Amino acid sequence: MQYAKVIVNISHENLDKTYEYAIPKEWEPYAVIGAQVVIPFGAGNRERKGFILGLTETPEFPPEKIKDILRVLTTDTVIESQFIQLAAWIRKRYGATMNDALRVVLPVKKGVKEKQEKYLHLLVDREKLFLYAQECERKHYHARLRLISLLEECDTILYQEAVNDWNISRDAIKKFLELGIIGISTERKYRNPIKETIQIENKIVMNQWQQDAVEAIWSDYELKLRKVYLLHGVTGSGKTQVYLELIERVAKKGKQAIVLIPEISLTVAMMQRFYERFGDRVSVLHSKLSEGEKYDQYERAKEGKIDVMIGPRSALFSPFPNLGLIVVDEEHEPSYKSELPPKYHAREVAIEWAKMCGATVVLGSATPSVESYFKAKEGEYELLSLPERVQESCQPSICVVDLREELKARNFSIFSRELKEKIKERLERKEQILLFLNRRGYAGFISCRQCGLVLECPHCQVSLTEHNNGKLVCHYCGHETVKPQLCPSCSSKYIASFGTGTEKIEELAKNEFPQAKILRMDKDTTGRKGSYASILQAFDRQEADILIGTQMIAKGHDFKNVTLVGALAADLSLYANDFRSAERTFQLLCQVAGRAGRRNILGEAIIQTYNPGHYSIQAVKEQNYEKFYEQEIQFRELLRYPPLGHLLGILVVSPDEDKLERAAMLLAGVAKEQLKENVIGPVNAYRYWIKDKYRKVIYIKQPELELLDLIKKHLESYIQFSSHFKQINVYFDVDPITGY
Ligand code: ADP
Ligand code: ZN
Ligand code: ZN
Repeated sequence: MQYAKVIVNISHENLDKTYEYAIPKEWEPYAVIGAQVVIPFGAGNRERKGFILGLTETPEFPPEKIKDILRVLTTDTVIESQFIQLAAWIRKRYGATMNDALRVVLPVKKGVKEKQEKYLHLLVDREKLFLYAQECERKHYHARLRLISLLEECDTILYQEAVNDWNISRDAIKKFLELGIIGISTERKYRNPIKETIQIENKIVMNQWQQDAVEAIWSDYELKLRKVYLLHGVTGSGKTQVYLELIERVAKKGKQAIVLIPEISLTVAMMQRFYERFGDRVSVLHSKLSEGEKYDQYERAKEGKIDVMIGPRSALFSPFPNLGLIVVDEEHEPSYKSELPPKYHAREVAIEWAKMCGATVVLGSATPSVESYFKAKEGEYELLSLPERVQESCQPSICVVDLREELKARNFSIFSRELKEKIKERLERKEQILLFLNRRGYAGFISCRQCGLVLECPHCQVSLTEHNNGKLVCHYCGHETVKPQLCPSCSSKYIASFGTGTEKIEELAKNEFPQAKILRMDKDTTGRKGSYASILQAFDRQEADILIGTQMIAKGHDFKNVTLVGALAADLSLYANDFRSAERTFQLLCQVAGRAGRRNILGEAIIQTYNPGHYSIQAVKEQNYEKFYEQEIQFRELLRYPPLGHLLGILVVSPDEDKLERAAMLLAGVAKEQLKENVIGPVNAYRYWIKDKYRKVIYIKQPELELLDLIKKHLESYIQFSSHFKQINVYFDVDPITGY
């Protein structure tokens, strides 16, 4: 006998409240997760609808007390059914709990009131109104007279407006209602987070590349072929224009589109362009909206009141009745991966969701993720490209400065001689400068300032990380060595961990260029809401000459007067303890370099590095994605990293160090019994001690996702039944995006 866990009321608070029902034999084939069912509910066995959230053969309730499902509704699929199916997929793919997965896909309802708007309608003809007006005049009913003159002007008026703006008493309105002069009606009102009202139709004629891309996708669409396309085009090549065109065509067919963007901060710019084209048929969804605003956007989507939803990850779960297209802009951005459970990747979920809804997917990027490019090359996605910038603006010239030479010339400053010269030049010409510190994943790697050697793990090709105890550790395999006093390659004593923050750089820049006005943007200066935008705007108004920042300044902002970009230490992210570090470095440097000299001013980018020969630096210099990819994929292939295999990250956390040690060893041991050398670790996490807890990491490499899922299930049940996992938390992360 099969049993189903049925939920009657879907909302975030009630996800735990499922009821067990038996599935009669004849309904078994239809009783899948997500299916809508009719059940006898409560003591009176009233018929109610519900959804199946899970299936089991071993119910928790005594079987003889379990009622039968009455029937499965199979005729029309409701959106909730589909979202529950998607949650089941997320659960399986990322090893989450079903509850966590459901929380992500189902819209919030928590404490949200629907907003109603009351209207007053004139029910009698003008003659009657006029007669009544005369009566009111005789009796000096001023409020009533005001209401009459309003009704004379317009048959329908807002209740609130009559009361607030025209000072008409509620009693007067009541009287009118009693007399049957007016009627009252209520209408659902949606909160609209978009404040702009200008809609300029500014139709751009697409160039040949854009037209080709649109036609390639559209001809498939017309043939009912739903595929995933990777649109590879440098910044400014007109990708957004391609999205707009496709969405318009999709909307004309009565279907809707979702546009995912990597970060909230980019919403406004994107919104404006969509608003110009689609007016209030477009909306946004993101975490800064109030619960009420969010809820209303879900409702507007569901009711078919909008055609396009824009936003970061969560916008993907807009309940459109007829989804036709999903765009994932800047598809390579790591922020698409959720940091909280379920640790899903929005790009992958988008592709799955599109498959379920019969929608097309367009992934767009100037520097595609290695995963997506690989799939495009394998033919799983279709590759389309926009090889040229739309406007005749010049590509910035990119110059790589070898910091080892600076040391030889006894320049110990963080500004190379060349960068210093160029900054002075710009300051004189009153042009602006961006200084970029590539700090992502910065994790105390050790390098030689004379020869540029970075100490790497002999087994993993990731940089070793210096721990507080002076040991150098590999975070992938646990390899440990003591820190050498001299460089193993050139015997220089200038071997140390590279560490500088933006604050320090600001100080150094102030000393070096005392006449310059300097702004800094990083996590510290952008803590307050809105300060992010205000720093950017101030810089854009040219209130400062130099802006110093982390990756935050690399994205999507188009500064008119910036002609020089300096990447101070390109190596910083190159040696993050993570196999994607070369990819990230390439993407980031391309992005910052692109900030220089848009709009017809020749720009220059200076990339300072101890490792000018590294393929990702070389590829940036030549602006050659293909070249980067060919090198990178070889490295991934050699070590079976994604996309040529899958990786399961297991983080084991406990306040008790001994127990943690034992539990992590046990877990790795269980995995090794089955997979041997594909199990890496346990090893201390880079930040071993966080929030009063110790953390260890185990990685498992597997070519097949299914095998990874099996081993994960195996480990989970081991954890459940072993006595060694009290006080221990274990977190799984399938295909993690950052190193631990
Ligand atoms: P991307 O999304 O690839 O960075 P955009 O679509 O934002 O590129 O295009 C860059 C700029 O060029 C925008 O200001 C856009 O309005 C403009 N643009 C795009 N396509 C054309 C075109 N065919 N003709 C003229 N201008 C265009
Ligand atoms: Zn050296
Ligand atoms: Zn290693």
